[in-house]
Amino acid sequence: MNEYTHILVAVDLTEESRVLAKKACALQKAYEAKLSCVHVIEPLSLTYGVDVPMDLSTVQEQIQETAKIQLREFAMELEIVTTDQHLIFGRPETEIDSLANQIAADLIVVGSHGRHGIALLFRSTVNGVLHGAPCDVLAVRVGI
Ligand code: AMP
Repeated sequence: MNEYTHILVAVDLTEESRVLAKKACALQKAYEAKLSCVHVIEPLSLTYGVDVPMDLSTVQEQIQETAKIQLREFAMELEIVTTDQHLIFGRPETEIDSLANQIAADLIVVGSHGRHGIALLFRSTVNGVLHGAPCDVLAVRVGI
């Protein structure tokens, strides 16, 4: 069976990423597909606006270092080689879709908290990913 050939798993590097790891691994085996992973670091200036009256560069560097280590650990468990591990700066939903396009992924795996109604308005990465995705998207239920 070879419906999907290149699966991209997007991880926020929280505990919930384990659920995604399991699912992505099962899919990769079932389809004998290539597996890539991505974590997007949101620049603090994007999160808090450009008018923060302090230098955030050291904090940003620390966040980047930690993310690099955690992504490497995540990737090692799934036997994803370095060249298929992607650490990117920007808005998660935009960057995930753009990377999927760039690496010709045919399935994006993301977590979904199953929020609905007004809760969805606050923030849902899966919603954003779905809107701009160049391929199929699998929303895996994580947490509540
Ligand atoms: P959220 O809607 O922000 O709770 O995130 C749901 C899912 O979107 C996560 O389980 C990940 O699959 C993906 N995601 C969220 N933030 C990021 C991020 N910074 N980098 C990569 N994927 C992310």
